Amino acid sequence: MPPMLDASNTAQTDLHGGRSPWGRGFRPPRNLPLSQSIKTDVLVVGGGITGSLAAQHLAARGVDVTVVDREQPGLGSTAASTAMLQWEIDCTLGDLTEFYGFDRAAQLYRRSVAAVQGLAGLVDGLGFDCVFRPRSTLYISAGEAGPSALRSEHLLRERAGLPGLLLDHADLLSRFGIDRAAAIFSPGSADVDPLLLSWGLLRDAQARGAHLIDALATAYHDAPGAVTVETDGPFVIEARHVILATGYVMPDFVRSEIHRTASSWAIATVPQAPGTLWSGGELIWEASEVYNYVRTTADGRIIIGGEDDDTVDPAARDEKMPEKSEKLVESLVKLWPAANPAIDFSWSGAFGETDDGLPLIGAVPGMPRIFAAYGYGGNGITFSFMASRILAELCAGHREDWFDAFAIDRPSPAG
Ligand SMILES: Cc1cc2nc3c(=O)[nH]c(=O)nc-3n(C[C@H](O)[C@H](O)[C@H](O)COP(=O)(O)OP(=O)(O)OC[C@H]3O[C@@H](n4cnc5c(N)ncnc54)[C@H](O)[C@@H]3O)c2cc1C
Repeated sequence: MPPMLDASNTAQTDLHGGRSPWGRGFRPPRNLPLSQSIKTDVLVVGGGITGSLAAQHLAARGVDVTVVDREQPGLGSTAASTAMLQWEIDCTLGDLTEFYGFDRAAQLYRRSVAAVQGLAGLVDGLGFDCVFRPRSTLYISAGEAGPSALRSEHLLRERAGLPGLLLDHADLLSRFGIDRAAAIFSPGSADVDPLLLSWGLLRDAQARGAHLIDALATAYHDAPGAVTVETDGPFVIEARHVILATGYVMPDFVRSEIHRTASSWAIATVPQAPGTLWSGGELIWEASEVYNYVRTTADGRIIIGGEDDDTVDPAARDEKMPEKSEKLVESLVKLWPAANPAIDFSWSGAFGETDDGLPLIGAVPGMPRIFAAYGYGGNGITFSFMASRILAELCAGHREDWFDAFAIDRPSPAG
């Protein structure tokens, strides 16, 4: 089994180190202790962005939903996210086509486009402020992924009906001031303050009757008719279904051969001088296998993340923060020489990866009433949105064939 974080012994402080710029001046929604054993229709374990999206959607559908988090909701990996809400998946359409064939790969990409649109519609409809901004992306050549690799990817995307424009070096330099050999420019993504989004969704769920409880789920007993969940207190929660949304800390009974835990690092600069950022504040990410990713913030900062490696131990990850920050600054200055690279925020986080860039969403094998949503890489939040819709359908007893693409026990596509 690939290296994982220990489910019985991982706190939010193990999921990230340092300080990110999110949620400043705001507080998490109010949670209550568990003062008696309760029954609920759906219990969501974990109050990060995955649990928040699931809880809000279920509550909006009129489901009796309870969320438990053992710490402050949102302050796990969600607080460490750079929150680029992309429909482009960590695995290119080309690679996904090699794994699963063009039709299935193209359908997954189109569903990802629809997920970002769905998220935008949700935020718009609910009307709370989470600094959600529609953005285009620039997928820029890097390492071995040069113009011809980007051209092949672009042609496949065109064939799949995905939006985008191939830019050569001259176009990229004249339109965006970026000196790389080629890029794919794509509309339809977004960025956000992930903590404000998560907390806003939880508050909306609470307003619709959802309960937010401060408790640690310690054991799950899946019996016909209901799951009984033990907690760190004397009380239990009985639920018709359980949704596990515990982030990169997966209980031992959720087993996946294709999921690994790694680490990523990020910095946010000081606010840049007016007029010195690239024109549309596009989300920029590199086409190489290990890539850096860059966005801006509403107050004019540049965030750059990446330098990923396979560190799992939280202390070792945090020790690397100064060295990784320095490398991120070097990459930023190469990409955008006009940047003022002085750092205001620097942080690190656990990061999940799967062999095919797709998450793990669905029923836990052998536990038909327990569903899980895990395995998120660079577009984790887009997939959390998709998970919330899939899992609500599964809780209602509706299954569709395409859900199988995310099956928790799927084999590695590499064989
Ligand atoms: C540096 C970095 C950059 C990233 N950039 C992006 C990006 O640009 N775009 C993107 O889409 N994604 C990005 N991601 C990924 C994204 O952050 C994650 O996919 C997302 O935050 C996962 O949210 P979650 O709710 O599943 O997990 P979490 O936010 O970790 O929430 C899980 C919650 O479960 C609680 N919990 C755990 N176990 C229990 C238990 N037994 N009982 C009760 N509560 C429990 C925890 O306290 C925690 O609050 C990035 C991640 C990192 C680290």
